[in-house]
Amino acid sequence: MNPTPIIDLHTHSNCSDGSLTPAALVERARGAGVDVLALTDHDTVAGLDEAQHAAVAAGLKLVPGVEVSASWRAQAIHVLGLWIDPGSPALRERLAAQAERRSVRMRRMCAALGKVGLPGDELLAAVLAQPGVPTRSHLAQALLSGGHIDRLDDAFRKYLGRGKAAHFNAEWPTLAEVVGWIRECGGVACLAHPGRYALSAGARRQMLADFVAAGGAALEVITGGNGAAHVEASARLAMTFGLSGSSGSDFHGPQQIWNPLGRLAKLPDGVIPVWRAYGL
Ligand code: AMP
Ligand code: MN
Ligand code: MN
Ligand code: MN
Repeated sequence: MNPTPIIDLHTHSNCSDGSLTPAALVERARGAGVDVLALTDHDTVAGLDEAQHAAVAAGLKLVPGVEVSASWRAQAIHVLGLWIDPGSPALRERLAAQAERRSVRMRRMCAALGKVGLPGDELLAAVLAQPGVPTRSHLAQALLSGGHIDRLDDAFRKYLGRGKAAHFNAEWPTLAEVVGWIRECGGVACLAHPGRYALSAGARRQMLADFVAAGGAALEVITGGNGAAHVEASARLAMTFGLSGSSGSDFHGPQQIWNPLGRLAKLPDGVIPVWRAYGL
């Protein structure tokens, strides 16, 4: 491995809403010079076996991960579980329940789209025909393929974003519960993309305090596409709350040309890398 390995601890495959298979993701990461990669699909560990095999073949270190959907005061929060045990029966049971929440929410979203004049049943069928646990990205894709929108972002802007006709909060478990699940299977709980939640600065701090109280250990200080000001603010939060820092692109596929694998800023001095405890 390089003396300063290239580390990317947040990526998606087509087991959730990424566009590459787990094996293709690993190969692409290797091609991009990544030494350590976490596959962190939304609420599923289904891709980890395939990714692990590909990682051995490619000579890359795979960190088993997952990005779990949680709720804090009605806001959806994403918690990365890193170095989890994907074979844990307890974790698998919890994630099966998450998948069920996702399919219930997907039906509600499609029904709501039906009420605003879109073909709800057709859209649902188009979502279910795509691989992976169903996310809003799948529905956005179905809207695009059906010719109902001109670009993916319009799906969120017009229908699926907060306050829009087909936006529903799924009944996600609480932030504290999700942190507990991750710890229970030996994982490190890392709060993903802290700048992306619709929270005031004060509420964000309270959310982080609750995360720490529940046993959360890390904050994603570097996340794909974020500028220097964001990195500095997140680094300060990590240090204030005694969290280590993580770094991940949140890669969803090569079509998002602005967000490649492994091209991430250095963690600011003073932030303890979450991977240090793992000898990296
Ligand atoms: P879900 O977990 O089902 O609520 O879906 C969330 C996923 O939708 C995120 O992980 C992103 O991949 C995607 N997403 C959210 N907002 C947008 C947006 N404005 N444009 C494109 N993708 C988005
Ligand atoms: Mn996603
Ligand atoms: Mn996320
Ligand atoms: Mn993600």
